[in-house]
Amino acid sequence: MAALWEDVLRDQPAVREVAAVAVDAALLEGVLMRTEGEPNASDVVNYAPFTLLPSAVPRALFEQAYAVQQDFNLLVDAISRNKEFLEHTLASTIKVDDFTARLFRIHTQVLEEGLAQSVFLGINRSDYMFDCGVDGTPALKQIEINTIAASFGGLTSRTAAVHGRVLKVLGKCEEASRLLTNTPSKGLALGIAKAWELYGSPSAVVMFLVEEVQRNIFDQRCVENELWNRNIRVIRKRFRDVFEKGFLDDARRLYMDGQEVAVVYYREGYVPKNYDQQNWEARLLLERSRAVKCPDIATQLAGTKKVQQELSRPGTLERLLPGCTEAIARIRATFTGLYSLDMGEEGDKMVATAIADPDRFVLKPQREGGGNNLYGEELRQVLEKIRDSPERISYILMDKIKPQPSMNYLLRAHSPLQVSECISELGIFGVYVRRGQEMVMNRAAGHLLRTKATEHADGGVAAGVAVLDTPYLV
Ligand code: ADP
Ligand code: MG
Repeated sequence: MAALWEDVLRDQPAVREVAAVAVDAALLEGVLMRTEGEPNASDVVNYAPFTLLPSAVPRALFEQAYAVQQDFNLLVDAISRNKEFLEHTLASTIKVDDFTARLFRIHTQVLEEGLAQSVFLGINRSDYMFDCGVDGTPALKQIEINTIAASFGGLTSRTAAVHGRVLKVLGKCEEASRLLTNTPSKGLALGIAKAWELYGSPSAVVMFLVEEVQRNIFDQRCVENELWNRNIRVIRKRFRDVFEKGFLDDARRLYMDGQEVAVVYYREGYVPKNYDQQNWEARLLLERSRAVKCPDIATQLAGTKKVQQELSRPGTLERLLPGCTEAIARIRATFTGLYSLDMGEEGDKMVATAIADPDRFVLKPQREGGGNNLYGEELRQVLEKIRDSPERISYILMDKIKPQPSMNYLLRAHSPLQVSECISELGIFGVYVRRGQEMVMNRAAGHLLRTKATEHADGGVAAGVAVLDTPYLV
């Protein structure tokens, strides 16, 4: 794998020349982000960071990731509908993690009142790395599944064209023709459109619930455009707007600015800093409404790290997906070791093991968005500090996945052009729509390859660490 494009990597003048072409191609194709300095205006924009060259991805693992996506869709949906499972699994976490506790309180409150929502839309992204075994054979191992605000489906619908151009400029037309087309923006919009249609009110709108700081707006616009192309009206609102102007009628239909909202698509609301008291109230209002929430709060909870850890326990998948033996086998094959740090003998043992051999593990709090995990020496120090404290319950421990690195150039505005040792993370987008008990849509909707320098243990594209990439199947 490491040897792909070796001829290019050695040819500095060629790299320089093609890098300039690549940047212009990215701007031309719309692989864009607003700048850090002006995150809420589009007067000045830049290209989103990306690799100069597509990265090698083993074809068999790529196909395996696609093949298991419908299973993961069913699993996430099953978890979200299983009140007892969520309650039992998150019981220890909500005692020590205030954010999860608040989400859980809304979940409970909405169930007690009775759900007004009858159409459900899930958009998730299951992320993997290719773990290199002792014999060098790579295996598909899941990092996590994102059940809220899974991003970059829009921009990544445009990266294959950029990498295709790069390969052609390098005289590799044959290789360029082998890059797969990939259009998660269409797949995501298809799900949203289906949910909108089933909601059954042609004049109702789709509301993108967006952050205060909107650097990644173009990624969202790609999906938005697909909806406009279908003559579905899209509005963009923040929690603050919902707090100020949102209301429910007697049938708990949601209205914003006098317009009925059919679908709420969250691109916000997944980290504590997204919420103040008013935003929590806005979230509750949305969850109580009849509108299709993508995701509803139960589905957001289904994506917590604690749930992920619980899924790896023997017997859990069997309870959640009874009778689905083959699906369970496909799902389980992607799991690596996940461990609870709950108080008790099992947790004590894991803490001691991780302190003795910190490089084997990743320590994860119940947070999303990158940059929260602990590794190596830092992991050891934190665990030593909290080993006898209930604080440890708010974390899970995971086996560290160790992919085979490869060399690439990470193109980032205002950064020097230099070769880096990199590893990649493959994400598959999943989309499903359920009406009552009936699954109306369940599909894989495209992929996202992100690549980062091995010097960074953590962090995604938005966190400024990883960059967009395109898989080159080998
Ligand atoms: P977040 O919700 O913050 O995205 P992730 O579980 O995806 O949390 O972890 C963030 C990043 O940390 C991943 O993108 C990956 O680069 C790295 N990472 C997470 N888990 C592992 C693991 N088990 N082995 C190796 N790297 C990991
Ligand atoms: Mg992640």
